[in-house]
Amino acid sequence: MARSLRVAVVGSGPSGMYAADALVSQQEIPVTVDVIDKLPVPFGLVRYGVAPDHVSIRSVRDTLDKVFEKPGVRFIGNVEVGVDISVATLHEYFDAIVFTYGASRDRRLAIPGEELDASVAATDLVAWYCGHPDADRETFERLIPTATCVVVVGVGNVAVDVTRVLAKTVGELTHTDMPDYVFDTLRKSVITDIHVLGRRGPAQATYTTKELRELGELADADIVVDPAELVFDAASEQVIADDKAVARNVEVVKAWATKEQTGKSRRIHLHFMARPVELRGDTRVREVVVERTELDGAGGAKGTGETFVIAADLVVRSVGYRGLALPGVPFDEDRNVIPHVDGRVQCDGGAVSGEYVAGWIKRGPTGIIGTNKKDATATVASLLADCDKLPIAPMSNPSDFDSWLAGSGKQVIDNLGWRSIDAAERALGAGKGRDRTTIQSTKDLLKAAQLNHG
Ligand code: NAP
Repeated sequence: MARSLRVAVVGSGPSGMYAADALVSQQEIPVTVDVIDKLPVPFGLVRYGVAPDHVSIRSVRDTLDKVFEKPGVRFIGNVEVGVDISVATLHEYFDAIVFTYGASRDRRLAIPGEELDASVAATDLVAWYCGHPDADRETFERLIPTATCVVVVGVGNVAVDVTRVLAKTVGELTHTDMPDYVFDTLRKSVITDIHVLGRRGPAQATYTTKELRELGELADADIVVDPAELVFDAASEQVIADDKAVARNVEVVKAWATKEQTGKSRRIHLHFMARPVELRGDTRVREVVVERTELDGAGGAKGTGETFVIAADLVVRSVGYRGLALPGVPFDEDRNVIPHVDGRVQCDGGAVSGEYVAGWIKRGPTGIIGTNKKDATATVASLLADCDKLPIAPMSNPSDFDSWLAGSGKQVIDNLGWRSIDAAERALGAGKGRDRTTIQSTKDLLKAAQLNHG
């Protein structure tokens, strides 16, 4: 191909940015990349998923941001593929498309009462405290100041994140980039008890040790573990023997089970062998019916029929994310991922020409941020290997796509627009002695994009 290969990356989270980086960092094939995101700002879950108090993990965005400094990489923000532009139209402007739009929705518990007021998805709570443009501010600003007892369902890292953020004092969070409305609401919090429910045993929990330990290091929250719930069968003992990370997790929890409470204002009750079977209340959740479980000998757990009740005025369902289908793109409805072989999108047993996939929408919502680098690089290797057989886009000059964008009626955020938003957020934070403060509303983000940019 005489000209540069034109690639659209759909989604600017870690997998999209790592894919863009891998595409332009190799020397063999000249490539230009447009990273398209429905939001006016890049970095997906690094901005809107990683807990704001995990400052060092969030700093990954500085690394991701450097990709936009590389020649041939453009940010195209505030353009939603599937809504503002179809995948078929993208094919007219790009020789290849890499789908990296992640898994943005919550998985469901499918139990009675799940739809009651004050039963919320962790994905929505996280979106609220990270300042996502679609955050449901009204709900959380109403619920948090009126909830004394919270139940968090799940014992993955997201459950640990939301528990920690709700259990921390505002003083422990002031250094973060959370929007002011989050601080204002957390200041009014009346939460005293947070019950975290794991449906299997401590050897089967999916959190990581560093994140788990932090729960025991909070300024004004004690951790409570009932030794009777620390259940291990032969399969658990085997996992503990084989996996050092699991052994460390179990050690931490066992130490907590013998620890005295110190009279702090809040308590985190970490439960195992307990799964919710019903949420009850009038219109708002008032209690959670929990069923005791037993290990099934194969790493799973089953209900025993024995139940107990936990009073709760807020239930946070943290049972995993799920990916959504994009119109015109093959989708595996059972696994909520785009089917692929080596990153090549598959349909009817064959590869879809010019379509690739990486990240959570390829493999499901698992792994740490770095997992996406390997994953995206592998997908890009497939794309580059296919270079000679890719469909040739009829309008492959970047200015062709610029013309389409200009006629779309959207305020498109490019690299300069993003730089302008970035500068505005840093300035907003600096006024309060912080590195930055997240601007939440789309309207304010679009306004900030224009400040230093024509
Ligand atoms: P996760 O690790 O898969 O945890 C989901 C939790 O929900 C598990 O405890 C699971 O229990 C439970 N669950 C699922 N269905 C349930 C049901 N019907 N009833 C009761 N419990 C149920 O997912 P996640 O916490 O959403 O995290 C997603 C990914 O992001 C993970 O790879 C995570 O490590 C990563 N992440 C990392 C960090 C970090 O590194 N600091 C922070 C946040 C997220 P079972 O295990 O029994 O199914």
